[in-house]
Amino acid sequence: MDSASSTELTDADLDTLSRQLGRPVRDVVEVGARCVCGNPLVATTAPRLSNGIPFPTTYYLTHPVITAAVSRLEAAGLMAEMTERLESDPVLAENYRAAHQHYLHMRKAIGERSGTGPVPEIDGVSAGGMPTRVKCLHVLVGHSLAAGPGVNPLGDEAVEGLAQWWTRETCSCAGAWDMAGSAPDRELSRHTRTQGLTPDELEAKRATRRSAAETARDNAARDSAARDSAVIPAADTHPPETP
Ligand SMILES: [Zn+2]
Repeated sequence: MDSASSTELTDADLDTLSRQLGRPVRDVVEVGARCVCGNPLVATTAPRLSNGIPFPTTYYLTHPVITAAVSRLEAAGLMAEMTERLESDPVLAENYRAAHQHYLHMRKAIGERSGTGPVPEIDGVSAGGMPTRVKCLHVLVGHSLAAGPGVNPLGDEAVEGLAQWWTRETCSCAGAWDMAGSAPDRELSRHTRTQGLTPDELEAKRATRRSAAETARDNAARDSAARDSAVIPAADTHPPETP
């Protein structure tokens, strides 16, 4: 596998994912899809979080250019239009049900690879509204990018709809996220970033934090359920515009 198709999660990927999201990532076990340049596009999360909570949403879009573009499609009403077509087009509905099954199959395999094992609490539950509705295009696009074309018909359509902002063949990473300083650690998550610190104050905090970063990573695994659920979208809820 070359670097642009490997699902293996590296330390550099974790750094990039945290920068893309502006917060530390949790319980990510693989990279679901990569840019042609090798940067992550999709984070793959284990079906059970380290705090024990079942987690049905396996693929999470992380690339800011793509998440913003998908939000534009949603704002334009594409989800309602797709859901209506599912009700009137039996072939599309059947292919979408197959995508749902594929999602469940992939998640089971990821659970096995990551050591999570079976998660019976979410048996038969996928994400994004599958198998009969469209409730989150980010989920469908994440699935399409991870699975490749021809698996999720509505995810593929949404990917095609992104063409004016992003395509699979083009790198749109330059300037898409902040490369300055260290990657967000737990204290630099969205909860504290909103406190109105000046750039100088932020840099001072970062300097202090660099030495503590290792400890923070260890502690992250033991973080509380409340905190995890505050930063990761729960099953079937729509992620915020900037996840
Ligand atoms: Zn790129």
